Amino acid sequence: MDQLNQHSAASEKRSGFVQGLFFGKFNEQSVLPYYEQAESERDEGAATVASISEFCRQFVFPNLIDKERLLAPDIIRALGDLSVLGMTLDQNCGGAGVCYFNFCRVMETLGGHCGSTAAAVNQMNNSAIGVLAAYGSDEQKNQWLPKLIAGETSVALAVTEPLGGVCPDRLRTTAKATEDGFKIDGEKRWVSNAPVADLLIVLAATPDSAVADDATTAFLVMPTANGLTVEDSPGEKLGNRGVTVGDLHFDAVKVSADDTLGKIGQGNTILADVRQNEHLSYSASMLGAGKVLLQRLVERANFRKQAGKPIAEFPLVQRKIATAAANLFALECAVYHTAAHLDFAEESIGNESIMLKLAANAFLWQIVNDTMDVWGGKSIFDDQSLERFLRDIRYSLISEGTSDVLRQQIAENAIEAVGEDLKTLTTNWWQAPAKIYVGTPAIPVKHEHLRFHSRWLGSQIGKLGWNIKTAYATSGAELPGKQLQCARLADIATGLFLSSCVYAKLTATLINGTIPEPTQRAEFETGNLFLLNTRDNNDSLFEQLKINHDDEIAKVAKAWLHHRFEGPVEEQTI
Ligand SMILES: Cc1cc2nc3c(=O)[nH]c(=O)nc-3n(C[C@H](O)[C@H](O)[C@H](O)COP(=O)(O)OP(=O)(O)OC[C@H]3O[C@@H](n4cnc5c(N)ncnc54)[C@H](O)[C@@H]3O)c2cc1C
Repeated sequence: MDQLNQHSAASEKRSGFVQGLFFGKFNEQSVLPYYEQAESERDEGAATVASISEFCRQFVFPNLIDKERLLAPDIIRALGDLSVLGMTLDQNCGGAGVCYFNFCRVMETLGGHCGSTAAAVNQMNNSAIGVLAAYGSDEQKNQWLPKLIAGETSVALAVTEPLGGVCPDRLRTTAKATEDGFKIDGEKRWVSNAPVADLLIVLAATPDSAVADDATTAFLVMPTANGLTVEDSPGEKLGNRGVTVGDLHFDAVKVSADDTLGKIGQGNTILADVRQNEHLSYSASMLGAGKVLLQRLVERANFRKQAGKPIAEFPLVQRKIATAAANLFALECAVYHTAAHLDFAEESIGNESIMLKLAANAFLWQIVNDTMDVWGGKSIFDDQSLERFLRDIRYSLISEGTSDVLRQQIAENAIEAVGEDLKTLTTNWWQAPAKIYVGTPAIPVKHEHLRFHSRWLGSQIGKLGWNIKTAYATSGAELPGKQLQCARLADIATGLFLSSCVYAKLTATLINGTIPEPTQRAEFETGNLFLLNTRDNNDSLFEQLKINHDDEIAKVAKAWLHHRFEGPVEEQTI
């Protein structure tokens, strides 16, 4: 097991395709040609997916899991036997050595079948196995990884706090140095798996470390430690009910110096790595859920008749189907582009994975809403499972960060990158025109059908770079505070990232002489719709960067925030 250190940290990689977009660049070699799996890898993936599908069909009953609020330990152990846990870890580290691309195919299958199972596998592979493999000492790995991979042990990752939220720079849980280790005090809440975990990975502030005042560090803590209470989070959970959630109370809990995970002060880096992979596999599982919903949408539209004809013939219903198909096509292109990058490219997927989660959040919420609309009254009852999908998806929008928090992260990453590049301008002001200038990047056209898209895509990418740079140059450090403008920039950039992946995928499809023409046409038309919708949406967002109602929004919100409502005020806990 001493070779486990080979698993390299994502934070060490160089910046990726999206970082180029922030500067108005289209880094062709990062996205073109679209990655196609080698035949052997594709067959391997198909065989794995077939065996997982069969296992799910026979043994995983999502409605029962939801009703009983329990994902049975037998299922977890069986997933271990099927090598789903630790799937992407090297074989010489005890994992299955499967590439992220095929792991995402597995997550897609699980997500389509059962939200709770997909969430549990995502949590175990990324928050537990992945993080221990990347940052654990040999001893820690030897002790925990084999049992985790076998599904015999479970681990929970505790970051969120009642006051601090999920942002680690505001952690109130502290680990203060003692003579022989650390003493942890504080509270964590809503920690997935905590009530059943055999080990807790706890992020705490280490203020008296030599690293920095706001340093955070990860610790391995036994749930049985003196001074630690683990209890179920109060109340019924909305979705993904098979995964338990708990609150932790630390009262002078002692941990030894050997129980730090990674280095002192490395907590934020560890969390960023966990989140990156979690967002990717989350998005793959959402893609699977979306495909199942699209199928339900189409089936109902064809079956249900109104005004003497199937509702599928109404353009308003057709718009729902076409939009769902186009959005899922784009999500698929972006998920597998990103998975391939994680497998092969020495580039970070930090921004890409945040954008994937943001897009998956938006698309899935719309698809489940539209599917329920088309199923009408029948969607409200639990015999159709649609209300379970709705609950699971709504829960997923919040976990790992809400859409607005993701938007803010994207914008802050863009501002930081561009700000770093422009900071010399305060002294070398004469370089300003050259530094701020952004041209229109050329996007190679390999097929005539794509010429139009290449033009607007290049033009919008250039415009994005220009807008980020000029916004930074005029607002500087104040820019993150202008959240509505930041959100627009983040949404534009996300649309351009997904569109670039779609563009690359369509290029590969259109120039591939072996794909039958009807398949080529169907794929082109679906991707084409996504590109057209994104172009229009982005045009409108660019307009709003210049002319908007942000002041009016602030005024009305402030007035309502000071409004005195009649009736009793709901009691709140933090
Ligand atoms: C069932 C469940 C399981 C969970 N599992 C885990 C786990 O295993 N480990 C763990 O550590 N955590 C876990 N969490 C916590 C989860 O990650 C957080 O609930 C989530 O990140 C949202 O944080 P919050 O609830 O503190 O909301 P808040 O951060 O308080 O957000 C509330 C609202 O304010 C908005 N907001 C917050 N900050 C900003 C900002 N800067 N700009 C604009 N708007 C903002 C948000 O968008 C949101 O609309 C879990 C939560 C749940 C419900």
